[in-house]
This record gives sequence, C-alpha cells and structure tokens, in this order.
Amino acid sequence: MTRPPCRCLLAEMPDETELADIIAARIGEIAEEERTPGEEYRRRLALCRDCESLNRGTCARCGCYVEIRAARKRMGCPCVPARWESMK
Ligand code: SF4
Repeated sequence: MTRPPCRCLLAEMPDETELADIIAARIGEIAEEERTPGEEYRRRLALCRDCESLNRGTCARCGCYVEIRAARKRMGCPCVPARWESMK
C-alpha cells in the first residue's frame, strides 16, 4: 500500500522536530544578503504547500528541503513553469 504524500512543512510535523531544528539552523547560517525576505519566503512556502510535489517537507522535483530552498533568494522553484521565481 502506497503512503499518500504529506503536504506539511517540516516545521509543522510533530515527529520531525529535531530535523526541523536542523533545517532552521541551516537557514540561520544563510547570509542576510542571500536570504529571502520574510514576506516572499512565506509566499513561496504557501505555494509549496499547494503543490503536488511537496512530500514530507521535500520537493519531489529537486530533492531539496523546500524550507531551505525557499530561504535562498537566488533559488527558484524547479517546476516548469516555476511556481515561484528566484530574486536578484
Ligand atoms: S515544485 Fe516548486 S512549488 Fe512544488 S514543492 Fe517543489 S519547490 Fe515547491
């Protein structure tokens, strides 16, 4: 039996707290000038939440943890067409 995809972000999964902490720490290591502004970060994650490629906090198209990918402003969604674009 195939497990249905999980549409949660890591920070929302109670059994993934340790991993979510690690991801949050990695995001914290991103230089301020490389980091996506808060409003755009939330917009990106909202689009990931509605995407069929999101599964247990990772993107099935690129394998990234979406919370890290979205936090880097120069990264974009790997979907064609992209659901969210990179920032300059
Ligand atoms: S394809 Fe894009 S929108 Fe969908 S989960 Fe991956 S990064 Fe997010």
